[in-house]
Amino acid sequence: MFAACGAATKRPSAPGAPTGPNAAGLVPLPCDGSVPLAPVKRRYCDRDRHYVTPAARDALTDAATRLAKDFPGIVVGFMDGSGSEGIVPFPPHLSHGDGRQVDLALCYTDTQGRPLAEVPDTRKWGGYWPAEPPRPGERIACPQGREGRAHKPDPPANRPWRLDEERTRAMVMILIADPRVRRVMIEPHLEERFGLWGHSKLRFAGCQAARHDDHIHVDFY
Ligand SMILES: [Zn+2]
Repeated sequence: MFAACGAATKRPSAPGAPTGPNAAGLVPLPCDGSVPLAPVKRRYCDRDRHYVTPAARDALTDAATRLAKDFPGIVVGFMDGSGSEGIVPFPPHLSHGDGRQVDLALCYTDTQGRPLAEVPDTRKWGGYWPAEPPRPGERIACPQGREGRAHKPDPPANRPWRLDEERTRAMVMILIADPRVRRVMIEPHLEERFGLWGHSKLRFAGCQAARHDDHIHVDFY
């Protein structure tokens, strides 16, 4: 069975030779399906939004490979990394740009709990929208909403997808156990729901930043 945290590339191909760093010291994340790590939408690769440091690429590839050992067929989906030139910040992000950040899709199931092969409803936001909002009684990080363009509405309650908590939690666990990962931005209610409340590498990005219950942001050293 093929399960995914969301990826545009599904046909494995022979691994290409890893690309060496460019003038900014950055390398592209793999777009060819040779490892279980792929863009949520092709445009992240086509528009050169997938550049990272070599260490970040290695760490992400290792994390995805490790996750696929536990969940065969899974593919970790990425959205924005940095541009090829290494300019900070990398719009529309408040950060990104120097290759030490990447946004990863969460993992999803259908309403029956079956893993979805792709991130749901990527048309408008390219993978950034399918949020898992707080349940009644869970922490609400920004009760007044978020500032300006950081505000994004919750998906409808009758949405045809659900967060795949087991796989998403496993992905977060693998990332925070990696010494190359500096921190992971995640909404407080998910940090708590995953039983990881207070972990030194898990952070709330603040109400001026985008919500992080529709994706996670990973910072690398
Ligand atoms: Zn980010």
